[in-house]
Amino acid sequence: METVKPSVKLLGFSRGINGEGPEYLVACAGKLCYSKSDIQTLSDNLDEIAIKKFINKLLDLGHESPLEHASFTFGIEGISRSCSHQIVRHRIASFSQQSQRYVDLNNSFKVIIPPEIDNVDSLKKIYMDSMLNDYKAYIEAVDILKCEYIKNGMNENNAHKKALEDARFMLPNACETKIIMTMNVRSLLNFFRERCCNRAQWEIRGVANQMLDLCLEISPILFQNAGPSCVFGKCSEGSMSCKNPVKAKVKQLEVKNDR
Ligand SMILES: Cc1cc2nc3c(=O)[nH]c(=O)nc-3n(C[C@H](O)[C@H](O)[C@H](O)COP(=O)(O)OP(=O)(O)OC[C@H]3O[C@@H](n4cnc5c(N)ncnc54)[C@H](O)[C@@H]3O)c2cc1C
Repeated sequence: METVKPSVKLLGFSRGINGEGPEYLVACAGKLCYSKSDIQTLSDNLDEIAIKKFINKLLDLGHESPLEHASFTFGIEGISRSCSHQIVRHRIASFSQQSQRYVDLNNSFKVIIPPEIDNVDSLKKIYMDSMLNDYKAYIEAVDILKCEYIKNGMNENNAHKKALEDARFMLPNACETKIIMTMNVRSLLNFFRERCCNRAQWEIRGVANQMLDLCLEISPILFQNAGPSCVFGKCSEGSMSCKNPVKAKVKQLEVKNDR
């Protein structure tokens, strides 16, 4: 049994027909709204400075729907089922998650250990023993169920698949899962606002921060205001505020100062 940590990889992002990045697509949409250009001439003079100008205008106005024309796709692994449950609550996104119905976890059982538990030796032992017991019970349940189904006339392959379906109820929340998620920029800004916040749970916050770093690499102008509300404004958490504002990333500050 292995313990793993959250890891995020950027798998892809929206591009223009000539390979331009997400900021070009958003700027095209912004320009169309506010200029006389027709579609054929939309990209005329749409250089780096003009792209920046259109995106800044959209962000300043809070005109966010043009941000929906660009999306980013992430491969996320090393997260717990409890973290993935929080992630998939974000409805404006597309998801594909490794199935516990079809994938047998025998010999590939991995768990996430919360840092606060990892830090206390005696508690860590209780935690790991509990995970190992769950894993052993899962393996045993698969075997017993499979035998029952075969006894009732099912072929071995189908019996094995059906056994996984019920045995997975014995797996813990800490069980590792993998997910591919695609989100448009508007939805990402909402995700970062909620999930990069100090009040978000540590695991999803770690994932959100990794995603934000990847987005900033590709599109620093689009994500110049990304993060919890305290990054460039007032905390939205009211009396539940952590009173410890998150500092904007260096790249965001550079873009801000350069406007
Ligand atoms: C600090 C914190 C605590 C939380 N605690 C709980 C909890 O105790 N229990 C719980 O169940 N969940 C909890 N959640 C999850 C939360 O309720 C949301 O389900 C989750 O954060 C997804 O956010 P969202 O709806 O903004 O995102 P999305 O579903 O991606 O939606 C994006 C935006 O689209 C709009 N939108 C989407 N669907 C609709 C709709 N049907 N009607 C109108 N507008 C819509 C909204 O503006 C929304 O912000 C918590 C989240 C946070 C950040």
